[in-house]
Amino acid sequence: MRIELKHVEHMPSRLDPGILYVSLEFGTAQHLCACGCGSKVRTPLGTAEWQLQETPRGPTLSPSIGNWQKPCRSHYWILQGEVRWAEDWSEAKVAAGRARDHGRLEEHMAGEAGKRRGGFWHRLLRLFGFSN
Ligand SMILES: [Zn+2]
Repeated sequence: MRIELKHVEHMPSRLDPGILYVSLEFGTAQHLCACGCGSKVRTPLGTAEWQLQETPRGPTLSPSIGNWQKPCRSHYWILQGEVRWAEDWSEAKVAAGRARDHGRLEEHMAGEAGKRRGGFWHRLLRLFGFSN
């Protein structure tokens, strides 16, 4: 099965199978689950989320798409416009993957919050003349 990339500004309410809709404006992508179950799969694009690569043969999304919240629990990669099915993940691997993804996201968020907090304290200290 192949997936084609289609640039859109806003996500259409009805998605066609075999198309990866990408809105760079909103930093997100959506497609219908490659197993054919009809579930919409959202993949936010960003450094802590999915990375999209446009290749001459089609889009590549990394990391893989793991639909463990969906009834079909499908897991696949989109590589150069081609759907590559992954082996069925054991529960343990799913949990580990989920924890790792969360960790990555939390790290990212903590980093952002830390930067903001740092800025705040710095400003506060400067206000009271403890820092310059
Ligand atoms: Zn599915």
